[in-house]
Amino acid sequence: MLVDSHVNLHHEKFAGDLDQIIDNAHAAGVTAMLTISDKISSTAAIKEISSRHDFIWRSVGAHPHYASDHLDLAAKDLISLAEDDDVVGVGECGLDFHYGFSPRADQEKVFAAHIEAAQETGLPLIIHTREADDLMLKMLGEAFARRKFTPLLHCYTSGLRLAEAVMEMGGYISFSGIITFANAEDVRAVARAMPHDRIIVETDCPYLAPAPHRGRRCEPAHVVHVAEKLGQVLGVTRAEIDRLTTANFFRLFQRAAVKDGAP
Ligand SMILES: [Zn+2]
Repeated sequence: MLVDSHVNLHHEKFAGDLDQIIDNAHAAGVTAMLTISDKISSTAAIKEISSRHDFIWRSVGAHPHYASDHLDLAAKDLISLAEDDDVVGVGECGLDFHYGFSPRADQEKVFAAHIEAAQETGLPLIIHTREADDLMLKMLGEAFARRKFTPLLHCYTSGLRLAEAVMEMGGYISFSGIITFANAEDVRAVARAMPHDRIIVETDCPYLAPAPHRGRRCEPAHVVHVAEKLGQVLGVTRAEIDRLTTANFFRLFQRAAVKDGAP
């Protein structure tokens, strides 16, 4: 059994064959998934998908790319959206200075609201961070000193210092298909430095298909290739990776046990 901890099932690329995609995942042993919010306006579509499957949970939040569309989003709005039982995390949210689709000040403001919601609800904060290590460290560190929360670094490609700081906060880290890419030795080096009880896996589908599917549409079934590679990188068996990452996922996302039929 494997859990794909970060899927974007409401993406238009899955509109035509979502049932098939979910069947493929089950056939590959991927028995549970967390489908992620990119914008608050996507909430209804995401909720509809989650409501049809006991093994698909969801998050609430706004991606940093869309921060400028969410300047009015307050922590209390996120807290109220998170009241549904199938919501297990806040995000994805964070800072992305690689693309910079939203101005930095907007990203910072909207991310701060998400941090506050994670502090208040106790739900994990699902963090997207790219080329923003210094400000990310500062924002997480200052907020954590005020009130604890549990950070998750998703699809991690940033530096070791930020990853280690998040581990010190009791946080988690997730690796995607990028770990299979030939040029991703720095990502594999970070993975080797992380405690085994804090690592989970994801596809971030439909993006970032792992080798050998690179360049094609990614789907949750492909998380097996992430797990396979992670096992090689850490020097443990595939069975041990499945056991570890599944246990880590359910320890992190404690609400993911609420729905009927859930593991
Ligand atoms: Zn992301």
